[in-house]
Amino acid sequence: MVGTTTARSRAREAFSVVNSGQDLCPSSAPASNAGSECGGMEFTREDVDALLSEKPKSKNKFNYKERCENMQEYIKRLRLCIKWFQELEDSFLQEQDRLRNTLNYVQQRLDELEVSSKNKEEELSSIIVELRKNLASAQEKLTKEQADKLAAVDSLAKEREGRLNSERLQASFSEDLAKAQQELSSANQRILSINDMYKRLQEYNTSLQQYNCKLQSDLSTASESLKKSETDKATFVEELSALRGHHNSLKEQFASVKVSQDEAMKQKEVLSNEVVCLRGDLQQVRDERDRHRVQAEALTAEVDKYKEFTGKSCSELDHLTLKSNELEAKCLCQSEQIRTLQDKLIVAESRLEVSDLSALETRAESEEQKKLLSELQTRLADAEFKLIEGDKLRKKLHNTILELKGNIRVFCRVRPLLPDESSSEAKVISYPTSMEALGRGIDLAQNGQKYSFMFDKVFMPDSPQEDVFVEISQLVQSALDGYKVCIFAYGQTGSGKTYTMMGRPGHVDEKGLIPRSLEQIFQTKQSLQSQGWKYELQVSMLEIYNESIRDLLPSNRSSIDSTRTENGSAKQYAIKHDANGNTHVSDLTVVDVRSTREVSYLLNHAAHSRSVGKTQMNEHSSRSHFVFTLRISGVNESTEQQVQGVLNLIDLAGSERLSKSGSTGDRLKETQAINKSLSSLSDVIFALAKKEEHVPFRNSKLTYLLQPCLGGDSKTLMFVNLSPDPSSAGESLCSLRFAARVNACEIGVPRRQTSTRSLDSRLSYG
Ligand code: ADP
Ligand code: MG
Repeated sequence: MVGTTTARSRAREAFSVVNSGQDLCPSSAPASNAGSECGGMEFTREDVDALLSEKPKSKNKFNYKERCENMQEYIKRLRLCIKWFQELEDSFLQEQDRLRNTLNYVQQRLDELEVSSKNKEEELSSIIVELRKNLASAQEKLTKEQADKLAAVDSLAKEREGRLNSERLQASFSEDLAKAQQELSSANQRILSINDMYKRLQEYNTSLQQYNCKLQSDLSTASESLKKSETDKATFVEELSALRGHHNSLKEQFASVKVSQDEAMKQKEVLSNEVVCLRGDLQQVRDERDRHRVQAEALTAEVDKYKEFTGKSCSELDHLTLKSNELEAKCLCQSEQIRTLQDKLIVAESRLEVSDLSALETRAESEEQKKLLSELQTRLADAEFKLIEGDKLRKKLHNTILELKGNIRVFCRVRPLLPDESSSEAKVISYPTSMEALGRGIDLAQNGQKYSFMFDKVFMPDSPQEDVFVEISQLVQSALDGYKVCIFAYGQTGSGKTYTMMGRPGHVDEKGLIPRSLEQIFQTKQSLQSQGWKYELQVSMLEIYNESIRDLLPSNRSSIDSTRTENGSAKQYAIKHDANGNTHVSDLTVVDVRSTREVSYLLNHAAHSRSVGKTQMNEHSSRSHFVFTLRISGVNESTEQQVQGVLNLIDLAGSERLSKSGSTGDRLKETQAINKSLSSLSDVIFALAKKEEHVPFRNSKLTYLLQPCLGGDSKTLMFVNLSPDPSSAGESLCSLRFAARVNACEIGVPRRQTSTRSLDSRLSYG
């Protein structure tokens, strides 16, 4: 409590004033005229640090007036500073909006472009594919045609060769024929000449026969004349005898006749010889004629044969010519086809080139757009980073203000409607949208009346766990800096206390504040190692049911009965506070933890022990307080600093008003215990706020356990959980009223527990 007197003496505006409907907060003036208040001043981080670390200059400790004035002056400067940061934040937000809009616009355009280019590309590629297909088929056709053509050319060449052969054959045949015809004609001529000769010979023969006949007739006349002459001789002889006298003359006559007769005989012999000779000649001529005839006949037959042969080859030649003509025509036609196909191919190739070019163009365009997009994205990231930094600074400043105010902070969280709750009924909870109350105000309608409240923060039903954690992360951080931190979850059963603290089991996205806080602490612990900080973390978990403590962690001395100590005596769980404000609970299991894995194992164990208790002890999870405690001790070897922080996360018992009437036995005892502990919690808080001499910490186990964490040294935050169900409106109103009163409490300025006097460079605003 040392060092809090100055803080307590300060005049502060409590949230209760705000809640009662009066706006006393000058800092909520619109940003437009706030600029003049700041007077164009600018604050750097160093300024802020200097401002925050400023000490009161008053020389006289008891000159309250002067100190008060100094404080007011200080607060005024702080306000100016905050105003300036708020303006900065506004401008950041505007800038971000603008950037986001341009980015959206560009992205939209880019998307459109991308879509169109993709379409175009697809179209082109389909055309290309089609063209390629056409080309392939055309080429196939072409090759087929070419093969056909080659075959045709081959066959044509063969035909030509055949034709040439046949022509040659024909020529040789014609030659033969001509020769044969020549021979024939010569033979004919010879036949003619032979015939002529034959005729002449026949004529000669006939003339010879005539001559022969004449000769024979001459011979016969000669014989007759001979006979006559013989008769004449006889007559002559007679006459001779008779004319012997004329002998001489007659003798002479006779001799002359005899000479003529001899001459005739001689002539006859020559003629006979000549006939025989002629007969032989005739026979010869006849023989020759016969031979010639035979020869002529043979030649005619040969001619006939040649004639027949030539006819045949002629027809063959005709046939071949026809066929070759046909083939030539076909070849021509195929060449024509090939030419057209080649033309087509050229056209297709040119189209392909054109489409390739356009595809390249679109690609280049899209790349340009992508570049632009990435540029914009980096700019946006920059802006976002700046915004986040600004936001962080704002939060720190806000926290500092709150600390300076000394209030117990209150966050309100409304859970969503559960599937089995009807959403048809009129909404009882609404959220004001005015600048001032945005994110901080909550209105509740009951029996036709509207009740308005303002807290440090109001989380709407759709706020995820992550967003809730971000708001308390600074507070968690300050536990590492040596503060005592207490976070309560208050509300009726079913309003989301356990959900807020632990999360939904088995859903990593819906982890609660406890696991998230530990993750952050382990992370920061890691990063602070480079500055020479070494931390030891110890965890304990307990629940307070019917004013008695139950350990939720497995005892490291594995005793069989968890309710008994090693020596058999019942565990006492006696609470003791030492002079440094450190709390010890005897027999309570305290576990050193080094990783989030270990902590999640312990949390699972605790949840299990609590749920086991639930079945045994009639749903007592809603009738018991769950206290998670993390003790943090850090040593900086280089600066020889030491810090001792505590983080308490408490899931309180259901706050619903339980009627004592009708409750008997265990139930009555439970009801009394809860009423007692919750009312002593509020009694303690209000006594602290009123700065009463006696604070009734000892009235309940809970308040006594948390005594060092509830005093002015600590940082306290309360979540008030609400159910949106209309049937819970009454309880919600009670919770809100209680929370508003708590929020109005000033319990003092928190203090770090460090053991060196040197000023720590690490400032915590949590
Ligand atoms: P309490 O611990 O206050 O009795 P619980 O945390 O058990 O209430 O919540 C009651 C029910 O509402 C649980 O089923 C829980 O999962 C659900 N619930 C509470 N808060 C939320 C939230 N913010 N989002 C979604 N479900 C929630
Ligand atoms: Mg619960």
